[in-house]
Amino acid sequence: MGGTFDPIHHGHLVAASEVAAEFDLDEVVFVPTGQPWQKSHKQVSEPEHRYLMTVIATASNPRFTVSRVDVDRPGPTYTIDTLRDLRAQRPDADLFFITGADALAQILSWKDIDELWSLAHFVGVTRPGHVLDGMGREDVSLLEVPAMAISSTDCRARVAANNPVWYLVPDGVVQYIAKYGLYSDAPSSAEEQT
Ligand code: ATP
Ligand code: MG
Repeated sequence: MGGTFDPIHHGHLVAASEVAAEFDLDEVVFVPTGQPWQKSHKQVSEPEHRYLMTVIATASNPRFTVSRVDVDRPGPTYTIDTLRDLRAQRPDADLFFITGADALAQILSWKDIDELWSLAHFVGVTRPGHVLDGMGREDVSLLEVPAMAISSTDCRARVAANNPVWYLVPDGVVQYIAKYGLYSDAPSSAEEQT
C-alpha cells in the first residue's frame, strides 16, 4: 500500500487490514512515497518523518511492515518503480497494490499503465466522498471497507487549527506530531486535498 502518509491515519490502517483479511495476505507492506510527483508543488513533510510515523502506526501488527524503497530512491516517486523494487525483493510473491477509490481513479487515468498490471493485482477500496470504479478491468478488484471519513489533509488542518487528532490517527502518531511540531502551520484549504 503506497501513500504519502502525511500523517498515516486509521483510514489507511482499516483499508489495509480489510484487504489483508479478504485476500488472505501474508504481509501488508506500507510504502511511504519519496517526493510524490502529484504533490511536488505542495508542502509535504520530510520523508523521514512520514516513514517513522508509518513505522509507529504499524508496529503492533505482525503482518504490517514498512518499506523504504520510495523514501530511499532519489527523485520523484512513480508507482511503477515501487512495484519493480518490491518485485525484485520478493520474486516469488503475488503482489497486490492497495488503493483508495480516489487513488485508483488516478492510476486508471495514466497513459502507460500496462506494465503495472503485469507487476501486481490492484485492489480498490471504498472511501467516503469518492466513487469506486474499476472501469470494468478484470485485473482490478473492488472491496467495500468500513467508511472512515478521514484524510491526511484534514488531520493536518486540525493540527494547524489546534483541534485534536486523537482517534483519527494512532496514539503514537499524535505524540510524534506534537513532539516534532509537525503541521502547526499547514494550509487548511480543501483544494490542497488529492
Ligand atoms: P492527503 O489528504 O494528503 O492526500 P490521504 O488521506 O488521501 O492524504 P494518502 O497518503 O494520499 O492519504 O493515501 C494513501 C492511500 O490510502 C490512497 O490509495 C488513498 O486512496 C487511501 N486512503 C486514504 N484515506 C483513506 C480512507 N479514509 N479510506 C480508504 N482509503 C483511504
Ligand atoms: Mg490522498
